[in-house]
Amino acid sequence: MAMNIALIAHDRKKDEMVNFVIAYEHVFEHHRLFATGTTGTRIMEQTNLQVHRFMSGPLGGDQQIGALVATNEMDLIIFLRDPLMAQPHEPDIIALLRLCDVQGIPCATNIATGEILVKALDRGDFAWRELVHKYKPGVEE
Ligand code: PGA
Repeated sequence: MAMNIALIAHDRKKDEMVNFVIAYEHVFEHHRLFATGTTGTRIMEQTNLQVHRFMSGPLGGDQQIGALVATNEMDLIIFLRDPLMAQPHEPDIIALLRLCDVQGIPCATNIATGEILVKALDRGDFAWRELVHKYKPGVEE
């Protein structure tokens, strides 16, 4: 069953994200992908995947993804944050992570956790989200 997955990577983490998505392209190709602007462009340039791109993170992309988390429409987030660089949109980042905790959405903020989540996804561990989709008009199967 196709899940809605959001991918976000700060600038110094974009190469890591692209390599990660290439490594698990065989998993991601079965799902609907969403990303902040530049992250999405990079992924589309370097894989055969289609990604729905929102605005760039600093311009509101995190908030756009957060809106889908708030309505429980996002199933999984992989958010490779840069822990060593201040971000102008820090409040938006905190808000997105907070909303994941509000809804209980799995959210990885580093590649090690991301890998575990993608393997779990591949194994069908998120099948319970099917119930959420069922009662959410607008989230098709
Ligand atoms: P970007 O946004 O993918 O547009 O770079 C991510 C971010 O920096 O928050």
